[in-house]
Amino acid sequence: MYTFDYKRPAAQADATAAFHGDARYLAGGQSLIQAMKLRMSSAETLIDLGAIEGLHGIHLDHGAVVIGAMTKHSEVAASDVVRKAIPALADLAGGIGDQMVRNQGTLGGSIANADPAACYPSAIVALGATVHTNQRKIPGADFFTGIYETALHAGELITAVSFPVPKRAAYVKFKQPASRFALVGVFLAQTADGVHVAVTGAKGSVFRATQIEAALNASYTPEAAKAVHLPTDGINSDLHGTAEYRAAMISVMAGRAVAASLGH
Ligand SMILES: Cc1cc2nc3c(=O)[nH]c(=O)nc-3n(C[C@H](O)[C@H](O)[C@H](O)COP(=O)(O)OP(=O)(O)OC[C@H]3O[C@@H](n4cnc5c(N)ncnc54)[C@H](O)[C@@H]3O)c2cc1C
Repeated sequence: MYTFDYKRPAAQADATAAFHGDARYLAGGQSLIQAMKLRMSSAETLIDLGAIEGLHGIHLDHGAVVIGAMTKHSEVAASDVVRKAIPALADLAGGIGDQMVRNQGTLGGSIANADPAACYPSAIVALGATVHTNQRKIPGADFFTGIYETALHAGELITAVSFPVPKRAAYVKFKQPASRFALVGVFLAQTADGVHVAVTGAKGSVFRATQIEAALNASYTPEAAKAVHLPTDGINSDLHGTAEYRAAMISVMAGRAVAASLGH
C-alpha cells in the first residue's frame, strides 16, 4: 500500500471541502482498501465518510424508499421499511458477499465503485431510482456509464438514493461461487409504466433487457421470459461463462424473477 493522508470530517461540507487533487472518499473500504493494498489504486488523501451522520438512514418519502449513501448492506437487508415497501431490495442487499462485507459495505460505495458485477446497479436501473449528490439529482438510467465508471464528477459526493416503490419486484442472482458477485443478476420491477428488467454481471455495465421486457409486457409469466433468446452482442465471455451461456442465463434468471415476484 502507498502512503496517504487520512481525514475523518464530521460534516458533509468539510468532506467535500477537503477533496483536492488525488483524494478519494472512503466508505466501507470493501473495494477501495482491497485495491489500495494490492497497489491497483492509490490516493494522496482518504476522506473517511463514517462520522457524517446525515449520510445514514432509511425512510419513506412520497412513495419512494430513500436510503442514505453510508447505509450498510446489512442495514438495508434488515430494514422493516425496505422489507415492507420493496422486499426485493432487502433480498438483494442480504445476498451481497458475506456477512462481513454486508456489515461494512455501503450503498454509496457500491454504486460509486460501479463494479460490472455488482448487485445494486440493477435495482437502480429497474426501479428508476434517483441518485442524490451534494450537487444534483442524477436519474439512475444515466448514472452508470461504463466499466467502473459513473456520471459522478471528481469530488462529487453521493448523499442518498431514492427508490420508487414498484407494484412488484424481484432480484435473482446466479452467483459467482467464490466471490458471490453476479455472474448474471436480474432485477425485475413491475412499475406504473410497464415491466423493467435490468441485468448486471453480463456486460461492462448494467443494461435493460428490452426484448424480455416486451415479452413480459405481453404476458407476465416465467415462460414468456424464458422463451426469449437474447443476442450475444457485447455479452461478457470469460473463464466463468461464455457469452452464449450468460445470454441464456439472463432469460432463465428473468423467468425465476417473474415467478418470485408472483410469490411462486
Ligand atoms: C468478498 C467480497 C464479496 C463481494 N460480493 C459482492 C456482491 O455479491 N454483490 C455486490 O454488489 N458487491 C459485492 N462486493 C462489493 C461490496 O458491495 C462493497 O461494499 C462495495 O463494492 C463498495 O462499498 P464500500 O462501502 O465498501 O466502498 P469503498 O470501498 O469505501 O469505496 C468504493 C469507491 O466508492 C467511492 N465512494 C464511496 N462512498 C462514496 C460516496 N458517498 N460518494 C462518492 N463516492 C463514494 C470511493 O471513493 C471508492 O472509489 C463484495 C466485496 C467483497 C470484498
